[in-house]
Amino acid sequence: MAKALRPLIAANWKMNGSPDWVDKPLEFDALFPQGQRKSLDVLICPPALYLQRLSDTTRQAGMYLGAQDCHKAASGAHTGCLSAEMLMSAGADYVIVGHSECRAAGDTNKSVKAKASAAKRAGLIPIICVGETEAQRDKGDALKVVKTQIKGSLPTLADYVIAYEPVWAIGTGKVPTLKDIAEIHDAIRAQVGDGVRILYGGSVKPTNAKDILAIENVNGALIGGAGLEMKSLSEIARLAV
Ligand code: PEP
Repeated sequence: MAKALRPLIAANWKMNGSPDWVDKPLEFDALFPQGQRKSLDVLICPPALYLQRLSDTTRQAGMYLGAQDCHKAASGAHTGCLSAEMLMSAGADYVIVGHSECRAAGDTNKSVKAKASAAKRAGLIPIICVGETEAQRDKGDALKVVKTQIKGSLPTLADYVIAYEPVWAIGTGKVPTLKDIAEIHDAIRAQVGDGVRILYGGSVKPTNAKDILAIENVNGALIGGAGLEMKSLSEIARLAV
């Protein structure tokens, strides 16, 4: 059932890129043409400053565009912040919320829920990130932590994506065993139901993506480092179809 869901391959560029990265979607399309990926969604999440700049090239390349965070309010006195409505007007379709780097900087389940709900109200699809730290996994608490994060972070409206990203696997080259990934994804599936895509994130590379993407309740990947290069991103995406 879960594999009937359309896979999503999402690249989180974080605070990387420059104006000339506008053509990266076209580069991706040349490496993995749209005609060959009709059963797959591919998403690029650049720094918010570049959303507008990339909105044409992502459309031309048959890709989706996303932001990396949003504020819970539609407008107001929030210096340096961007609302979901603003991101939508700049061309975004998705927004990542609750990334572990944002949770480390102060996001809580409550604020993630408020951001995810704001995204839904604005018409964006939130990608809600959850994941345990290394210490929590070592204590045997991974499942409990993830379930609690999900319970507290989901928006009130349906149609969202979950990304399971163990904090200790992000940018480290360390990856949980396939059995451990399957265990957490199965538990998330039981919690959120059949219609929700559940991505895995944390050191996904062309070399390990095939096995990870083959796991039953893994419906795609959220990719950091390997998503900066279109060659590696397209190689991973090819393994998802
Ligand atoms: C991330 O930051 O969401 C991530 C998964 O990064 P990386 O792929 O580099 O581990």
